[in-house]
Amino acid sequence: MSDMGLPPDPTYIQDPEHIPTGSIPDNYVSHTLKHQEALPPITWKNWYKELNWLHVFILFVPPTLGIIGAFDTPLQWKTAIWFAVYSFLTGFGLTAGYHRLWTHRTYKASKTLEYILAILGAGVVEGSIAWWARGHRAHHRYTDTDLDPYNANRGLFYSHMGWMIFKPRRKPGHADVSDLRQNPVVKWQHRYYLLLAFIMAVVVPTTVAGYGWGDWKGGYVYASMLRLVFVQHSTFCVNSLCHWLGEKPYDDKLTPKDCVITAVITMGEGYHNFHHQFPMDYRNGYKWYQYDPTKWFLWTCEKVGLASHLKTFSDNEVQKGELAVQLKRLRQKQEALSWPAGSSDLPVINWEDYQSQAESRALICIAGYIHDVGDFLDKHPGGAVLLKKNIGKDATTAFFGGIYDHGHGAHNLLSMMRVAILLGGAPHGLDEKVVPPGQHLRVSRYDESANKGHPELLELSCES
Ligand SMILES: [Zn+2]
Ligand SMILES: [Zn+2]
Repeated sequence: MSDMGLPPDPTYIQDPEHIPTGSIPDNYVSHTLKHQEALPPITWKNWYKELNWLHVFILFVPPTLGIIGAFDTPLQWKTAIWFAVYSFLTGFGLTAGYHRLWTHRTYKASKTLEYILAILGAGVVEGSIAWWARGHRAHHRYTDTDLDPYNANRGLFYSHMGWMIFKPRRKPGHADVSDLRQNPVVKWQHRYYLLLAFIMAVVVPTTVAGYGWGDWKGGYVYASMLRLVFVQHSTFCVNSLCHWLGEKPYDDKLTPKDCVITAVITMGEGYHNFHHQFPMDYRNGYKWYQYDPTKWFLWTCEKVGLASHLKTFSDNEVQKGELAVQLKRLRQKQEALSWPAGSSDLPVINWEDYQSQAESRALICIAGYIHDVGDFLDKHPGGAVLLKKNIGKDATTAFFGGIYDHGHGAHNLLSMMRVAILLGGAPHGLDEKVVPPGQHLRVSRYDESANKGHPELLELSCES
């Protein structure tokens, strides 16, 4: 809203210690936060001195005028439709223009489309493209840090509008905007911004309703003031709700999230986890069915020749990110479960020891492992008699089909009853039987050997 992108703003304390040429700090963010002085924090004692009055005016006057006006202005159905249509049009100025074109360069727009989007975007009164895109590039580059102008870690209210109500405590982190400084449409919009904003936010919505169907006051109250509030808060939600509500299907390192509710509120920007991972993709809703009207708008613009070179990220890489998150979740599930003792965790006994111990305990040998089935005798679906008949014997064949071909669940449960391993007792060719089905596939980290703790898994975990 103030013109932060171009001339330096005197309210910021400039970086006192520049990074020496040729030297790269280990971490730019921590280096900058350490060396750059910040304004004092906002407290109950000083908050009223730290207000950004221009932003306060823009954020609070339209809703006040709109709500007061709505009390004695009936909403006509034509004006209601105009409210919705103009919300989408000006919203596209922000989502398709400010965000996906100028901030992220996800496609090439014809000059006509550039002017249309620059003019429409001015109708949302969120500052010029130059100011908005500079802040948003810093948001992507320094997400969740104090160099991110709307750092989500500072709370939902702060990331939604608190960051505009108060003077920023420090300058947003460096972001290259040299392309925008040379863009004639961006420069033109910046120069005439106040005039364009007034015409597009107030004059156009009011006069269309006035000349169109005689509803001057309704046009002003609903299509101008309340529409302005609606679209502004819709786009503010990209910085607040989209970092707070939903899932992280592509990466869980930072706060951005995917959520259909925020996608509906923000004209498709709610697939924000995808967007932060793949900001050069013209889509935010990566999957064809995901609600992203901005993506459909750009697709249509391409078909009619207004846009070209719509960029998409490699499906292979997108799916790799998705798989990594899924594997991480599976790993957490895997670690929360109890697993049978492996051969290296068990005592090794010989056949004679097994025989003698089986006289006093219900021990059964299957696939080289000795199992204590004492607590299971009454629970065995086939009856206790079958188990008792096999105490002290090798019941491998009986278990795997000789008497009954047990299912995977039974095999997994059997492995939990392991108490020892029989010396020389695991015959060759029995890998499938030695390893319970629940362990045929496992999620292991890159620095863990495939057979750690489970030597018998080596071949299977590599091949499965
Ligand atoms: Zn973005
Ligand atoms: Zn974000």
